[in-house]
Amino acid sequence: MNSTQSTLQDKIAKLRARFIAQLPTRLEEAQQQLSALMADPCRNRMAAVELHRTFHSLKGTGYSFGFDQLARVADEAEAYLQQLLDDIDDGTPLGRPDRLSALLQRLDAHTQTLIGDDAPHHHATPAPLLEVNAPPLAQASAVKKQKLVYICDDELEHVTHLGYQLRCFGYQVEHFTETEAFDEAVVLKRPDAVVMDVHFPQGKTAGTEALAEIQKVTGQQLPAIVLSGFDDFEARLSAVRAGCKTYFTKPVKPLALATALDEIMDDSPFEPYRILIVDDEPEVARYHGLMLEEAGMLVHSLSEPGEVLTTLQEFRPDLVLLDVYMPNCTGFELSALIRQLPEHLSLPIVYLSSETDRRKQFSAMQAGVEGFITKPVIPEELVTAVSLRAERMRSLRALMIRDSLTGLYNHTTTTELLEAALSNAKRQQESLCMVMLDLDRFKLVNDTYGHVAGDQVLLALSRILRHRLRLNDIVGRYGGEEFAIVLKNITPASAATLIDQLREDFSNIRFNAGDHEFTCSFSAGISSFPHHARAQELRIAADKALYRAKDKGRNQVVVEEAL
Ligand code: GH3
Ligand code: MG
Ligand code: MG
Repeated sequence: MNSTQSTLQDKIAKLRARFIAQLPTRLEEAQQQLSALMADPCRNRMAAVELHRTFHSLKGTGYSFGFDQLARVADEAEAYLQQLLDDIDDGTPLGRPDRLSALLQRLDAHTQTLIGDDAPHHHATPAPLLEVNAPPLAQASAVKKQKLVYICDDELEHVTHLGYQLRCFGYQVEHFTETEAFDEAVVLKRPDAVVMDVHFPQGKTAGTEALAEIQKVTGQQLPAIVLSGFDDFEARLSAVRAGCKTYFTKPVKPLALATALDEIMDDSPFEPYRILIVDDEPEVARYHGLMLEEAGMLVHSLSEPGEVLTTLQEFRPDLVLLDVYMPNCTGFELSALIRQLPEHLSLPIVYLSSETDRRKQFSAMQAGVEGFITKPVIPEELVTAVSLRAERMRSLRALMIRDSLTGLYNHTTTTELLEAALSNAKRQQESLCMVMLDLDRFKLVNDTYGHVAGDQVLLALSRILRHRLRLNDIVGRYGGEEFAIVLKNITPASAATLIDQLREDFSNIRFNAGDHEFTCSFSAGISSFPHHARAQELRIAADKALYRAKDKGRNQVVVEEAL
């Protein structure tokens, strides 16, 4: 069985075995440090500091792995050594360093016992360290799969119109005017969502009853929305019984229906939290990493603090878990160093340490870290502490980088992402297109139908852009009614075809304002790399093309003229 197939228990057992296997060497080193210290306690402060770190880490790791007896002795030794260190610093007469010899012997005895207990599984060579699972840094580009929606409604005219509108929003739609045909279709191919009418010729609640029945037969709960000409108690109750949370009365506004469909289909898959663990002891880092991975998080472990800056750039964690006592660079220093960088100012940092001194914990918190978790930690506590803080970070970051009305990237973020995409395209020698898009005569929409209606148009357009473009394309709200899109690895001609299709679909969407119905269109200009090698040039060229489109009569897409 390899490490990826083995269970969590197996993995932890390997980490424990490895820890035990290393104990004799570590105690030998401790013995040497102690000898140096005893030879000249006052001059050998360095040896005392190293020995302190050894005891501290034996304590922390020992408790984490459940070797409590060993950990307690290490704890005692650490505390005693702290006194010695204080004495050295104060210049007061020292206690008896040789007391540490006795403690070391006790540690040795516990080690022998552990080795004996572990013998059946233990090998002379340490178990191999589990490889650090570095998750893929960039998601592969993926075209969004169109969602399949079944509409079942006996009013043919109504269904045809609604189906048409939903297609403009990017859904694949099939409609049925009879429940039998709908039932058959569900069995043959399960849709992503259902829009169901309540009233059919065969009964006042025949639609919702049919829906409840087919769910019972197939054993699958279908995300469903009820759309009804009736708004009475009986009709609503039948919808609840069919498991529908959303109930619309006709006529429904297509945008409202599309938004409700997005909600029930839970379109945005949850992105696992990304956690960076820095601990000089790889086994300990892996041990805590396993707990978090079990809870579905992505973990990157680092035992070399010097690599933290590049890892932050590449792994982009939502939170950093820091060990406090590490050689070369302490956790306190490392968090201060991370905080010096403006882009990591808001990154949550949590210490995970066996430091139990409240005063030290408090001063650590003052250095701007989010929390202090004491080893040994129980998995639930670690998972909760980490996910709460990571979640908060996510929400804050979303507020910072996204536009509040449309949820698209804001101007600043779009510009940054364009720069990044451009450097990447240069490195990979790929093409890239920039699209500037502007609503036509939008002022008139606001003036005629009101600002609220105008906002609906902005929402509909952003929804189409987000849903119809590829996952790794960048879609931003650049200004009030102006949008910027960065399409990766695509020729200007293909980009023009793609955007023109969106233009046509968008211009067919019917918006409602009170009793009025209206449509709206957009114009777009496209520029490309390698034609232009700088972000600023790309933007200006796309803008120029956009103005040409406006000049030529609007509701069209123009590609910049070849240079
Ligand atoms: P053109 O076809 O030449 O682009 O004409 P236009 O009317 O779209 O352009 P203009 O720049 O004259 O007007 C843009 C309008 O966009 C003015 C402003 O009221 C509206 N707008 C900007 N941001 C928002 C917003 O967040 N909500 C709403 N409802 N309207 C907005
Ligand atoms: Mg450590
Ligand atoms: Mg405009």
